[in-house]
Formats: sequence, C-alpha cells, structure tokens
Amino acid sequence: MSYVVKGERGDWEAVVGLEVHAQIISKAKLFSGAATQFGAAPNTQVSLVDAAMPGMLPVLNGHCVAQAVRTGLGLKAKINKRSVFERKNYFYPDLPPGYQISQYAQPIVGEGEVLLDMPDGSTRAVGIERLHMEQDAGKSLHDQDPNRTFIDLNRAGVALMEIVSKPDIRSPEEAGLYLRKLRSILRYLGTCDGNMEEGSMRADVNVSVRPKGSNELRTRAEVKNVNSVRFVMQAIEAEAARQVAVYDAGGEVKQETRLYDSEKGETRPMRIKEFAHDYRYFPDPDLLPLTLTDEFIRGIAAALPELPDDKKQRFVADYGLSPYDAQVLAAERETADYFERVAQGGAGGKKGRRDAKQAANWVTGALFAHLNETGKTISDSPVAADALGALIDLVADGTISGRIAKDVFAEMAATGRPPKAIVAEKGLMQISDAGAIEAAVDQVIAANPKQVADVRAGKAKTIGWLVGQVMKATGGKANPQMVNELLKRKLGG
Ligand code: MN
Repeated sequence: MSYVVKGERGDWEAVVGLEVHAQIISKAKLFSGAATQFGAAPNTQVSLVDAAMPGMLPVLNGHCVAQAVRTGLGLKAKINKRSVFERKNYFYPDLPPGYQISQYAQPIVGEGEVLLDMPDGSTRAVGIERLHMEQDAGKSLHDQDPNRTFIDLNRAGVALMEIVSKPDIRSPEEAGLYLRKLRSILRYLGTCDGNMEEGSMRADVNVSVRPKGSNELRTRAEVKNVNSVRFVMQAIEAEAARQVAVYDAGGEVKQETRLYDSEKGETRPMRIKEFAHDYRYFPDPDLLPLTLTDEFIRGIAAALPELPDDKKQRFVADYGLSPYDAQVLAAERETADYFERVAQGGAGGKKGRRDAKQAANWVTGALFAHLNETGKTISDSPVAADALGALIDLVADGTISGRIAKDVFAEMAATGRPPKAIVAEKGLMQISDAGAIEAAVDQVIAANPKQVADVRAGKAKTIGWLVGQVMKATGGKANPQMVNELLKRKLGG
C-alpha cells in the first residue's frame, strides 16, 4: 500500500508512530479501590488517594499488573521482570497531586509486534516499542456552565496501558489497520474493551514526512487524543499534507503538540511540544519497584486464549478459507465462534463438517449485511449459528435451491423462525421431479424461439439465459443443475 504526498518538487512519504492509551478492564483503579464504571454520576467514584488527600498512599492493583503482562504476551513482547513507577510532574486542574504516576525509564513491557492484515491477504509487521502502565487524569467539564469549569475525578487514577508503536506506519490505511488489529487483540485478551466512543482507547499520532525513498527521520508533530479510527486516518492525511506544504515553502516543521479538528479536517497547534526532561520524572518514593516472578508470567502465558493471528492461520489450514475471509472471521472472537459453530455443526461434508466456504460466505455476506442494516452485533443476531447451519444443510441436501435460500434467510432474520418451518409453510421445496422440470423447460423452449435458435447456432451463453427463464417460471424452485442438463440435452448444447 504505497502512500505518497505530492510536493512541489517531488514525492514525500509519511512516517507515523502511534501511542495508544488503552484503559485496562478492572473493577478498581490502579492505586485505589475506587470503582471505574463508565457513565457514573460525577465524583462518585473517587477515593481519598484519587483526590490526593495528604498522607494517602497508593496501593498497586495486582489485577491491573496481570492485565498489562497479559497484553504484553499477546503482543509477543518482552516482559520486564523489574519495572519502576515514576512521577511525571505537571499541573492541571484535573490532576490533584500535581503529578501522574507512570512508568518511564523502566516500563513493564518492552519490544513486541502487531501484524497488519493487508487487503491483498499478506501481512506486514509494525513494531511495538514498549507498553507501560500509568494512571488516567480526571476530566475538566467545560460545557456544563457558561462561566465555570467543573472537575470530575471519576476517571482520576483509572489504570491505563500506554502502547507505543515504532514509527513503522507509512499511510493512513496502515494506521487504521494497526488500530483495528490492536483493538482486536486487546478484546480477545479481555484487557481493554477498545471502545473509542467511551474513550477507553485513545490515540496520540506522531507524524513526520520525508522525501520518498530517503531514510531520514525528520521532526515530528504529535496530534493528541484522537478518538476514532477514522479521525486518526484523517489526521495523518491532513498533518502530512501540512508538513509537506511547510517544507515546500522553505520552512521547518516544529516539534509541537497539535489537535485534529474533524469538522475542518485540519490539525492546529495546541502547545509547543514539551520534552521528557520538562516533566522532572523521578521514581515514586511511595512505590517499590515492581518485580515479577517467572511463575507469575508463566501462569498468565498458560491461560492466553487463541489470538486472532493464530486463529486466522488455523481457519486457512483447517477450513481452506482464503486469508482474507479467515482474517475477517477471526477479527472478533464472537464472530469466529459463530462461524465455527456453523461450519462444524452439520452432518454433511468432510470430518462431519459443513462446507466451510459456504459457511464463511453466509456469515460474511448475508448475515453481516443484515446485522449492519439493523445495527445489531453477532451476539444478538436473530439468526442463531445452528439455524444458519440448518439452512446450509437444506441447500446441501437439495431440499431448496441456493436462490430460495436467500429468501428463507431473510425470513429467518425477520422472524427468528427455523428454516425448515419456513420452507414447509411456504412450499419452497426445490423441484427435483424430472417430469415437472421437463414441462417447464418445454414451455420456455416453445416461448423463446429466437434464443433457442441462438443456442443451436452455437451461442453457448444464451443457455444461461434460458435456465434463468425456467427458474423464473418455477418461482426459483427448480433444481438448477437439472434444468441446465435438460436444456442442453434438448438443444444439443
Ligand atoms: Mn501517557
């Protein structure tokens, strides 16, 4: 996927790294027992620690540590058995202690990687630089009152993982693939719900540009707190174009923090970028270095689920799916489970399985289309996996035609009824009776002398049209293969 920004004197490429803040799934905060439920009334989930009352001490939440390790293992990353919490000092009204507890020089997770599933079925690796744990800040509410700002500390102290990629991303599309894949992995692991609308996953986007083909790393700008995949992609496009225009005009790109305005489709400066030393990091004297045992790490590794990359490979190997279909089905665990129930539940096919390609087509085709239209997810699909499997069986054993199956599916989706009942009630059984089909074929031959002459003159394509006419005459119920054979026999095709 080559992405090029046209400049006045040549082509440029984008160099992008993402810092994703992912909220850890945990009932309690990183250093306090306060609850973390989204949407609670303001300041109802704040402990004395979160409010930074004097003398309060942080107590590390072991579950959050396990979640971070689990994520690191899922990213095929190095787990650091010793990590250190530090204070990152800055003032903000929604940060009562005047510092954020974060990890800096020694994060809990080191280098790993995320595989992008490219549209052509290939993969491309994006390196992970590190993952560290830190606390979230509270929220300043500017829209509650015309003259005042309110502070909600519910989010203060909530556990985050900051997942930093290497600057390996080269286009808005790759950034989108990266975020979707990362989200998919986090959801499989159960370590972050990946819900960007609720802010449980937010991305800071580091963008620089360089002449196409060069290896230099130029000054980057950071676009802060972008909260949807689409906006991340748009922000990269806008920021790369801006930087190329700056260089074209003979200027220099400044290291700064910018915001993306999705309505105007542009980034604008927020503040000149601070440097790490501005924060006066130092190890938090209230917290000991965090040390992990091999046993602790091994225990988490042993309980990891099958992750999307492995599942994709297995779907290709076991079911003969294309890498593309396999990836689409493996992206969400619920979808993958549903597909496997459809593919495996049946009587026919190899190893007691249904035709997996058929199963994949139904799930990614008709089912996805219906869920999309009705705004549902696969978990509340009106068509259960077993019912879809039964429908596929009805086509496989010749009870109904593939054409009729589409109508039956629509009825199943609308009413939730099983396919057999719908087929019986509406009399949709396929006509495989040779006599009945022959009668319909004879009628169509008699009514279409010109097309019949064309077929006899060697226009093989027209036979398909005639098959269509017979199907139409039988309300789609004739066995298409029998119709085809009969027509060929009668017309000498
Ligand atoms: Mn951070």
